[in-house]
Amino acid sequence: MATMPATQDNRPLTELPWQHGYLTATAASERSAVVVGAGIAGCSSARALAERGYQVTVVDRHAAPAEAGSGNLQAVVYPKLSLRQDQLPEINLAALRYASHYYQSHWQAGRGDQCGVLVLPEGAGQSEEFAAIADRHRGADWIELLDTPALNRATGLSLAAASGLWFNQLGWVQPQAVCRALLDHPAIRYCRAEIDTLNRSGQQWQLLADGRPVAAANQCVIASGVDSARFSQTGELPFKPIRGQVSHLATGQLATAPRAVVCAKGYLAPPRDGLLTLGASYRRDAQGTQLNADEHRHNIDQLSDSDAGLAQLLAGVEVTALDGRANYRATTPDYLPLAGPVPDCPAMLERYAFLGRDAKTVKPLEGAYHPQLFMLAGLGSRGFSYAPLLAELLAAQMIGAPEPLPATLCKALHPARFVIRDLKRNRLAGYPTVKSSAQLG
Ligand SMILES: Cc1cc2nc3c(=O)[nH]c(=O)nc-3n(C[C@H](O)[C@H](O)[C@H](O)COP(=O)(O)OP(=O)(O)OC[C@H]3O[C@@H](n4cnc5c(N)ncnc54)[C@H](O)[C@@H]3O)c2cc1C
Repeated sequence: MATMPATQDNRPLTELPWQHGYLTATAASERSAVVVGAGIAGCSSARALAERGYQVTVVDRHAAPAEAGSGNLQAVVYPKLSLRQDQLPEINLAALRYASHYYQSHWQAGRGDQCGVLVLPEGAGQSEEFAAIADRHRGADWIELLDTPALNRATGLSLAAASGLWFNQLGWVQPQAVCRALLDHPAIRYCRAEIDTLNRSGQQWQLLADGRPVAAANQCVIASGVDSARFSQTGELPFKPIRGQVSHLATGQLATAPRAVVCAKGYLAPPRDGLLTLGASYRRDAQGTQLNADEHRHNIDQLSDSDAGLAQLLAGVEVTALDGRANYRATTPDYLPLAGPVPDCPAMLERYAFLGRDAKTVKPLEGAYHPQLFMLAGLGSRGFSYAPLLAELLAAQMIGAPEPLPATLCKALHPARFVIRDLKRNRLAGYPTVKSSAQLG
């Protein structure tokens, strides 16, 4: 009988340990990091590292943080729960519970409002699911199933929905104010540059712009939104940019402004400085950041289709009078972010080539990673919910501390998961660096 490979403590190994094998900073004196990108991912990562004693340099092509995906007037911290016992809803739940605490100080400082978020069901099937979700969390102080009178009291609107899930500890944030506040720490330095090369030189990562060194540190975090795959070390990671547009309504355009965030197909936030945000479109095919009337129309229609009360509220809105903002979200094939060490894909392909012949093979072979290179990207449509918790995860991994999430969830977020999946499925055409199968064998 074939013997199973064993772990260091001699328990039989049941899974290939591809998620291990990356380096962490060992001594507190070695704690320095460069972060490429100053959206919510980069700013929350920089803050998590600074609070662990790191000296951090954040580099962004813009003069100020949160000018790209994270640059909307308002970002809703919205919940997406499900009854499925699956990693995506489990991560979503952990992230939103963490975010509701994380943003407390920002809300108290007026960088948004913890006004509560109401989620309306999309159809009868989802009404039943929402009731079952509320039942699963019965007794919790952060989720409640509301009936029509209660949801109208919570939002100050006249909605027709028979029920909705109410999250009293969530709300919306002002992205630019939150990102600026996160970077406001004596150990964080901000630097404006367009980085094109990450170069490992000795024990340091050097960031280069047009061949010119801009910053260097022992560890590096890529938090570059839709551009996270532009570096030679990340070119084989699968990101898809998806354009989206929010619409801005002046408070006077509505008979009543909501007191809480309402999410259905799309969302509507309470006003900030006389403007409220309605969003968002999701356009795989569209390019550029020009505003477009069709997407304003879509934002109004998707909310109107969700509830007769919202349809009445939005009926008089003149699309041509709307302002807004368009940008991109970075999505991944399984809609989960990439948080963790950056795999050395060519080395992984070579090391684990045997998976193409038998995907179930287990060997005591850890993964291959770029030394001290990490990433937090692919946050999709929920960056403001995910970033706080995942920045903590990343910082824990970078110093070698216990991860704040169960191992199965860390694996589901691991940047190496796609190369392992593709090896097991023998789908390697998308890897330009792949050698012929004869060489791999
Ligand atoms: C229309 C729309 C509405 C949305 N609404 C919400 C919402 O209500 N709630 C929510 O949670 N999420 C929302 N999202 C999603 C959210 O905006 C993203 O998940 C989030 O902004 C991603 O943050 P990030 O830091 O990963 O990326 P970004 O915010 O895009 O930050 C990346 C940064 O990296 C910089 N950068 C990239 N490459 C380089 C380089 N080579 N050199 C230097 N700098 C570089 C960029 O300038 C940028 O500042 C929305 C998205 C869109 C498009």
